[in-house]
Amino acid sequence: MTDALPAAPTAALPEVLFSRLLEASLDAVIIIDEQCRICYINGAMQALSGYAGGELLGQPLNGLLPDAVASQHDHLVLDYLRSSRTSSVLGKIREFAIRHRNAQMIPIEMKALDLGVVDGMRYFGAFLLDVRERRELAAKNANLLAQLEQQALCDALTGLPNRRAYEAQATQAMARAARNHSPLTVGVADLDHFKKINDRYGHAVGDAVLRTVAQVLRETGRVTDVAARLGGEEFGLLFPDASVKQAARVAERIRAAVAAAITMLPDGCPLHVTISIGVAPLAAGATLDAAMSDADKALYTAKHQGRNQVVAAG
Ligand code: GH3
Ligand code: MG
Ligand code: MG
Repeated sequence: MTDALPAAPTAALPEVLFSRLLEASLDAVIIIDEQCRICYINGAMQALSGYAGGELLGQPLNGLLPDAVASQHDHLVLDYLRSSRTSSVLGKIREFAIRHRNAQMIPIEMKALDLGVVDGMRYFGAFLLDVRERRELAAKNANLLAQLEQQALCDALTGLPNRRAYEAQATQAMARAARNHSPLTVGVADLDHFKKINDRYGHAVGDAVLRTVAQVLRETGRVTDVAARLGGEEFGLLFPDASVKQAARVAERIRAAVAAAITMLPDGCPLHVTISIGVAPLAAGATLDAAMSDADKALYTAKHQGRNQVVAAG
């Protein structure tokens, strides 16, 4: 035979159950009266504010508020009581801050409520959630995302924009050129006999040469020009607002600067390398691929004519 269970209560539950539940809530809870005196705080609110429960009872709420809010809060409550009882805060979730006992401002998310009138006194209550961890996590994530975006567009060895970034910048430059009816020239640069450098001095020296050339590309040319590493020892160039003739002059400066730059070998001897460059117009209505292919052909001609030179398409 089983013991009969007590019947499930059908009437309202005893109020003490709710106050016990509130006391143990993970959210901080506070109740104030219409004169903005603190009437109740639960355990989580004690932890959040740094005060023991008894210390705050009967105290003005303002002590917990940021200065800018404290100077207006009583007024806002008075307005609310006297007027049509509309509020931009009550009933809504708001980001806010409270002052800890140690004076530190703690960011919180808050939902404040009008609890109605009991025995002639109106009360307000609020749930408060510490959002410090959430904010820190969001800031960390935003940082990580920015880093990832940066890495996705940046060549790790040289720090130059990569092929994807080059194509994105070319697309923007094409749109600007079309809008302004201005010329746009593209270029492809390729190190001469780079395989021999790797073979003779090793891959690490080859990498150092690529970094030297990248530095030259960053420093030479106009500020509006773009230099990117397309892959291997090949670089993409963009010359906005430049005819092929003007771009070829800038490319010639780049060529000469690369020829003059040195990479230090491990034994302290300077190593010189040269670069060949092909440039071609990106005419209105043409595609980047077609212009790059023209620049590639010009580069091929430069290689065949003896390298260490600039050749313009056409
Ligand atoms: P050319 O003057 O005709 O361009 O001759 P090249 O030797 O430069 O041309 P090739 O395309 O035969 O060789 C390119 C070499 O570039 C092959 C490869 O070893 C080297 N290379 C490509 N990427 C890297 C890199 O990231 N680091 C290093 N160290 N070498 C690379
Ligand atoms: Mg090469
Ligand atoms: Mg190559």
